[in-house]
Amino acid sequence: MSELSHRFSGTNFTPFWPETVAEKPDFPALMGSVECDLAIIGAGFTGLWSALKARERYPNARIVVLEARRLANAASGRSGGFAAPSISHGVVNALTRWPDEAEKLVRLGRKNLNEMEADIQAYGMDAEFERTGKVNVARTPWEAEGLRAMQAGYARFGIKTDILSPSELAARFNSPRYPAGLYEENYAYVNPAKLVHGLAQSCLSRGGMLYENSKVTGIRKSGAGLRLNLATGEVHARQAIMATNADLPILRRLRSTIIPVYDYSIMTEPLTDAQLAAIGWQDRHGVADFGNQFHYSRKTADNRILWGGYDAIYHFGSKRDAELLHRNETYARLEQNFLDTFPSLSDVHFSHAWGGIIDTSARLTFFTGTAYGGRLAYALGFTGQGVTATRFAAISMLDQLAGLKTRHTELRMICKWPAPFPPEPFRSLAVRWAQADLAREDRTGHRSLFLRLTDKLGVGFGS
Ligand SMILES: Cc1cc2nc3c(=O)[nH]c(=O)nc-3n(C[C@H](O)[C@H](O)[C@H](O)COP(=O)(O)OP(=O)(O)OC[C@H]3O[C@@H](n4cnc5c(N)ncnc54)[C@H](O)[C@@H]3O)c2cc1C
Repeated sequence: MSELSHRFSGTNFTPFWPETVAEKPDFPALMGSVECDLAIIGAGFTGLWSALKARERYPNARIVVLEARRLANAASGRSGGFAAPSISHGVVNALTRWPDEAEKLVRLGRKNLNEMEADIQAYGMDAEFERTGKVNVARTPWEAEGLRAMQAGYARFGIKTDILSPSELAARFNSPRYPAGLYEENYAYVNPAKLVHGLAQSCLSRGGMLYENSKVTGIRKSGAGLRLNLATGEVHARQAIMATNADLPILRRLRSTIIPVYDYSIMTEPLTDAQLAAIGWQDRHGVADFGNQFHYSRKTADNRILWGGYDAIYHFGSKRDAELLHRNETYARLEQNFLDTFPSLSDVHFSHAWGGIIDTSARLTFFTGTAYGGRLAYALGFTGQGVTATRFAAISMLDQLAGLKTRHTELRMICKWPAPFPPEPFRSLAVRWAQADLAREDRTGHRSLFLRLTDKLGVGFGS
């Protein structure tokens, strides 16, 4: 591992967000045999929204959530907390992959964010939800052109965005690295760990049951329902939801639909008003850069800056390993890019640094489906935009389990699986090839033949 600079002396190499949660109760591990109407495997956003929405539909149902680790320990508690008004990994992705369905996807994505905000308020969750907008920034002339194309894509659906003049951009985000910007008003943020705990509390206070350190190791049909095996017990459920995200899917047939991609963040100590004024970042909007290798950045409630993204690391064999959640090489690259972006902040220290695993699908969006004769529903493939889409996916899965045909289940984006990733060693080769070409496109503005071919096939690589 490479050495880190003095800015990382005293850094906590753990996610920041869980530290902000005042009460983190320990939940028991499941012991023995339990019966329920609905068992939910995984207690991230997907699993917990599923539990809460199931509770709203079926107030008397026995709902059990089984979490392999602790709450907020996986992607949901490690995310940037960008809450997109989108279920399709953005407007441009919807237009590119589902042109006939794009209008519906865009409309449903915006509605989902509104409903999520309403749920957070109705349940009294302290998730630090704030709809403070996003500045998309560009480094090069071709990225600035991309911002204009993005604006045109939004305009097709009546969504207003503003290309920022140099002085308007400097008033929001003053960086020598990014000469161009586009502001979108309808973008929100949450404290992701607080949202996880808020969802869990909302479920529990309405009679749901939650077990931590309770990994489901196998599923099989049993009578009219399902039997879920755990090391310390078993659950007999009428129906189940699999919400296990980037972990190796329990259902073998799903294993090639996603790959685990590691994404990392660093976070500054709280900045002073003078430091924020120096970088022109007094408002509370987030920032994302337009490149293929992009950063995302936002403020916390106490004015730290989260700076994440850029590297998206895939390991041969789809390796999933807790040790890979730290990568000094990436922390150092994030630091360098941070300093290039904010030269006036060269004296900051980073209070936290951490990584997380993204369940990348070859079209960057989730899909849902059922197994075991409709007794189990699953949703996965959220890639790097699951903070809001997971809520939509939860409702889709409940509709599917109920055998309903709704606007949640009829979408082609949802029903059709993404193209599978090839087996190794082709998988690693394809990812490396795509990454090299995406980086070259960032440098030169030219899209390679290989990327144009994958575009035509409707597949891609991203985070
Ligand atoms: C570093 C990072 C930054 C991100 N930033 C953003 C962002 O800013 N905005 C955005 O929209 N998205 C972001 N994402 C993506 C987003 O976090 C995810 O899409 C979302 O959290 C997925 O939620 P989930 O519940 O499906 O998965 P998870 O939160 O991963 O939850 C799945 C849970 O299932 C459990 N589990 C797995 N297998 C089993 C089993 N066999 N038995 C029991 N439990 C099991 C796991 O322990 C885990 O807790 C980011 C992701 C990462 C990694």
